[in-house]
Amino acid sequence: MKFIVDCMLGKLAKWLKILGFDTIYFSKIEDAELLELARKEKRILLTRDNELIEKSRDIESFFVTSEEWNTQLEQVLDEFDLWKKVSPYSRCIECNVELRDLSKKDVKNLVAPFVYEQASAFALCPQCERVYWKGTHHQDMEFKIEEILGKRKKKKKKTS
Ligand SMILES: [Zn+2]
Repeated sequence: MKFIVDCMLGKLAKWLKILGFDTIYFSKIEDAELLELARKEKRILLTRDNELIEKSRDIESFFVTSEEWNTQLEQVLDEFDLWKKVSPYSRCIECNVELRDLSKKDVKNLVAPFVYEQASAFALCPQCERVYWKGTHHQDMEFKIEEILGKRKKKKKKTS
């Protein structure tokens, strides 16, 4: 499942990528160009723009109702049944390509010594060559991911 996200929903786009989903986003793009890309790459359009929904009759689209990025994210994960497919840090948030796992010894010269000491898992973007790691650096982000996934668990309890 691939997404193309409307200009207004930058934070949603970023978080879809953090959670591992194929997502493209442009901070500035003409509607026609956006729709053409969606058509060509068979991407689902995510938007809060009624006009854009009107123009996108021939492609799959989803109207995100919330104004809050975390609720938007939940709406998308619910709508497309993606909760089980969440795979944090599997995609470069700049290039939208899948990361390649790196072993600890491979990264010795690529990251700062304290990162090398503290982080447990590393991955490389084959396109921009940025190195991603799990560890102290991303605690903030990991906390948010836990929070997002925790919401799903609570929801499940309510419905069962
Ligand atoms: Zn990259």
